[in-house]
Amino acid sequence: MSDILVIGGGVIGLMTARELAETGAKVTLVEMSETGRESSWAGGGIVSPLYPWRYPDSVTALARWSQREYPQLCARLHEETGVDPELVRSGLLILDAEEEAPARTWAETNGAVIEALDAVALEASEPGLAPRPERVLWMPQIAQVRNPRLTRALRRSIEARVTIREHEEVVELLIDGDRATGARSRKGELRADRVVVCTGAWTGKLLEQIGASPEIHPVRGQMILFYGKPGEVRHIVLSHDHYVIPRRDGRILIGSTMEEVGFTKATTAEAKEELYRAAVELFPLLKHTPIEDHWSGLRPASPSGVPYIGGYPGIDGLSFNAGHYRNGLVTGPASARLLADLILGRDPITNPAPYALDASR
Ligand SMILES: Cc1cc2nc3c(=O)[nH]c(=O)nc-3n(C[C@H](O)[C@H](O)[C@H](O)COP(=O)(O)OP(=O)(O)OC[C@H]3O[C@@H](n4cnc5c(N)ncnc54)[C@H](O)[C@@H]3O)c2cc1C
Repeated sequence: MSDILVIGGGVIGLMTARELAETGAKVTLVEMSETGRESSWAGGGIVSPLYPWRYPDSVTALARWSQREYPQLCARLHEETGVDPELVRSGLLILDAEEEAPARTWAETNGAVIEALDAVALEASEPGLAPRPERVLWMPQIAQVRNPRLTRALRRSIEARVTIREHEEVVELLIDGDRATGARSRKGELRADRVVVCTGAWTGKLLEQIGASPEIHPVRGQMILFYGKPGEVRHIVLSHDHYVIPRRDGRILIGSTMEEVGFTKATTAEAKEELYRAAVELFPLLKHTPIEDHWSGLRPASPSGVPYIGGYPGIDGLSFNAGHYRNGLVTGPASARLLADLILGRDPITNPAPYALDASR
């Protein structure tokens, strides 16, 4: 019997289990495959929403809290586990000049730094980029994290404190009257005083049994990876919804597609072509760089991208942390802390109302 059962071992489940275990609770985490292998592995790891002004304030609030937290979180994880999540403040160049007005308004309200660069400054800052005549936007504070390393470090950091059960799919929540008492997996019953659902894109499936489940559905995203050299691309670059992310070792990610194809995780030749074209249009030098990998992940899409964080109305002991859509890496630390605050009755880090299951989105 655990105090708390966390279902789902993506970045959200891992961070939630870690927050709760730090309070001394006896936590079990159950994962149907291996921890950190789904959307949290597939993502780009940009520690900012893309075009952050397009999101509701509730997403900005989680992102800003997490952006402040990430440096110390990554330093602690590195020290505790020896795995470096490679948090790098690469800065973000946005080539869509038409975004300047909404970007500036949003930056003023939120205290974010956004500058404009002319063609000469851009050439000096990102010499591999194909020449452009217009002004571009520059957000120097934006960082990236190497998400597969982040989830590996998170897992290692909780191994000694949290019981981790992998390759164990939860098929049913155990609910006794108006109380959650655990879950049934393909291997048996897992009893707990409290159940926290962190099952990403699969959340709707798990909750069919209780009728009104949160509105979360999968949106496939594909990425390609170039085997580049350090310095070829210096900053994260965003243009017409495509982005380029340079990793510390020189590898270069290009993302991503947005596809409504249910739970199909296959990659497609069309997406590879689309991403390749976008990449070489931005950085002609990539024509000569081999493509090393191509993958996809299922984003847990919720209305307006606002995650569900909090208790399930009418069922004691059942909570959610799911539906982070395109921003689960940047909003993860705040989401986990907020849910722990709510479960433990602490002062919440931010107003929890917009994330409640019955809040309108
Ligand atoms: C191509 C792409 C690019 C992205 N780029 C970024 C980015 O740059 N920045 C950013 O912030 N976000 C990004 N995201 C979004 C981010 O990856 C997600 O929001 C985040 O990973 C969601 O985390 P999660 O833990 O909820 O989901 P997941 O990582 O999918 O984890 C859910 C886990 O639950 C498990 N599970 C499901 N059902 C069950 C069950 N019944 N029993 C047991 N286990 C179960 C699954 O196996 C899975 O491991 C991107 C996503 C994609 C696909």
